[in-house]
Amino acid sequence: MKAELIKKQVITGKDTLYVFRCPEIAEKALPGQFVEVKLSAEFFLRRPVSIFDCDGSETISLLVRSVGKGTEYMLSLAEGEVLDILGPLGQGFSLPAEPGKCLLVGGGIGLAPLYYLAKCLKKQGNDVQLFFSPRRDAQLLDAIDNDQFPAVIAENRKDIADRLPQSIEGMQYVFSCGPEGLLEQTALECIKKDIFCQVSMERRMGCGIDLCKGCVVAVYTENGLEYKKACCDGPVFDAKEVAFHEKP
Ligand SMILES: Cc1cc2nc3c(=O)[nH]c(=O)nc-3n(C[C@H](O)[C@H](O)[C@H](O)COP(=O)(O)OP(=O)(O)OC[C@H]3O[C@@H](n4cnc5c(N)ncnc54)[C@H](O)[C@@H]3O)c2cc1C
Repeated sequence: MKAELIKKQVITGKDTLYVFRCPEIAEKALPGQFVEVKLSAEFFLRRPVSIFDCDGSETISLLVRSVGKGTEYMLSLAEGEVLDILGPLGQGFSLPAEPGKCLLVGGGIGLAPLYYLAKCLKKQGNDVQLFFSPRRDAQLLDAIDNDQFPAVIAENRKDIADRLPQSIEGMQYVFSCGPEGLLEQTALECIKKDIFCQVSMERRMGCGIDLCKGCVVAVYTENGLEYKKACCDGPVFDAKEVAFHEKP
């Protein structure tokens, strides 16, 4: 799909918000889904990026952290440029059937898929709170309209260990994206308290469309340990099924 970059906004020293006009994706995108961005002929592989925001008809926004060649190349894009973007891809978060108390647990750039989710949950009438560990990038919160979403900020690991269990207490639905340690802590706490929890798993992804089988996630099934693919079975998984320490 052709996507025109209509706005580019620096959020932190390494995070930039890109708004693309791409109605084909905007009309269909669900929270937790991602797109595959074709950068230029120099880059053979597309780059997977979560849908940070979406207006439901015209535009999608991507919040991208510069970590390597591809994401740094994105910094050179100028408004008006047109890219080829594939999406929406993957299985997103499940919105509750009945409105309830929702906690969104994010760490660092893991904030990216949680904002659109927060907006959709709010629209459905859910009570939405954020638990965020910025890892030195508190300014990331400038990317979101955080007046609407009360946030508990955890500055470090000790803070997370101390405050996450308390924040999860009394919640009905918990959704998380961020470093795997944070996802696992969130998952364990929710399993212990029998609270619905979904986690978005990040994997190095070659194709994003179930061809290369490179993005596996180990899951528990009734037949024992099996492997699913983050690109098409995920990236969002039920927290109970993820075998966090199993690597293929
Ligand atoms: C489903 C999904 C959604 C994502 N959403 C976002 C998002 O919203 N915002 C964002 O900033 N990033 C997101 N990422 C990560 C992003 O895809 C990578 O940071 C990006 O592909 C790196 O490309 P690069 O060319 O800049 O880096 P490279 O030069 O390829 O690599 C630089 C560094 O990034 C790591 N890396 C490369 N690719 C990945 C990858 N697919 N996953 C994890 N680490 C990787 C490498 O190990 C290396 O340390 C997402 C990844 C997935 C799988």
